[in-house]
Amino acid sequence: MPTGYVHHPLFYWHDTGTSAGVVPADPSAGIQPFTHVESADAKRRSHELIHTSGLLATVKVIDPREATMDELLRVHTSDHIQHLQEQSELPGGGDAGDGFSPVGRGSYRIARLAAGSLVELVTAVTEGTVSNGYALLRPPGHHATADQGMGFCLINNVAIAARHAQEVLGLARVAVVDLDVHHGNGTQSIFYGDPSVLTISIHQANCFPPDSGGLGDNGLGDGVGYALNIPLPAGTGHAGYLHTMREVVLPALDRFDPDLILLSAGFDANVFEPMARQMLIADTYREMTRLLVDAAERLCHGRLVSAHEGGYNPWYVPFCVLAHVEQLSGHRTPVVDPYVGVVAADHLLPHQREVIEAAAQLVAGIKPAPTNSAA
Ligand SMILES: [Zn+2]
Repeated sequence: MPTGYVHHPLFYWHDTGTSAGVVPADPSAGIQPFTHVESADAKRRSHELIHTSGLLATVKVIDPREATMDELLRVHTSDHIQHLQEQSELPGGGDAGDGFSPVGRGSYRIARLAAGSLVELVTAVTEGTVSNGYALLRPPGHHATADQGMGFCLINNVAIAARHAQEVLGLARVAVVDLDVHHGNGTQSIFYGDPSVLTISIHQANCFPPDSGGLGDNGLGDGVGYALNIPLPAGTGHAGYLHTMREVVLPALDRFDPDLILLSAGFDANVFEPMARQMLIADTYREMTRLLVDAAERLCHGRLVSAHEGGYNPWYVPFCVLAHVEQLSGHRTPVVDPYVGVVAADHLLPHQREVIEAAAQLVAGIKPAPTNSAA
């Protein structure tokens, strides 16, 4: 069976305006207008590499659609949705809530298209028309909370897909693995008191949001134990991330025994990334994907659905995305990472190992599933 693949040209039309990187341009303050760091380039080029490499011909393209209001309101407040719609209708666009999340003119519909497309992909994977899936979405979603956009995110695509899987597709337990270099705070907050959704976030310690995603943040009430954070020191690379996968993420997934694994696939832990200081190469993403595909096959009939989050280096992110989708689909294209050899091999360092070992202790806080609830 092929891998499902979602994209749409409108995802590249989400207009984040003429910022200078992250902050709004303001000539009176000396901030010269430039592009916003969350521009279309990295994702458009990723899609074009998937196309030109021949990989697109091997996947099954899933038709995008807008999320319905019912789907949005399973996760978000009606005030937040209304706010997005209003901001999106302003001639110059607006902001989703924190002053750092541009809403371009018309972006409300584009954000709904991203969320609805992920719902379609999760449905296709669950119904078995595709083996697993990858959605090249924009705008991203994992920082968006129930009532506010944040960190370039408008609507929490992965959270909406998780709730759809539970409430419509009948899957009881959903695991969200967040590989974006920034803490998946929005997704975590939405499920913080909910033991039916395990959230695991691997991120650079104290990067964004500040003071978010510490080892001690493990859930609330019935949800205690079902939020796992691995705040890796800046400079962690291939060896540290794979050690994290083997020592924390895979044991946590085994213990939780999910019916579906959703992946918040941020590619901004790559070594050339402007928005963080981690050291991953395309092969790190390939290897992490291999481990997650294996886990999904072992635990939940291969149900692994990946949604693009961050990743802003336009000339390196495409090679990371290609490696990820190659590994999901089992097809290797002739394209090789042209930057291999540019970056020296890294090693697991003691201060990285210390954090990973502390996070591994937290896996015991996940109560094992009594039975696997989905056949
Ligand atoms: Zn990010």
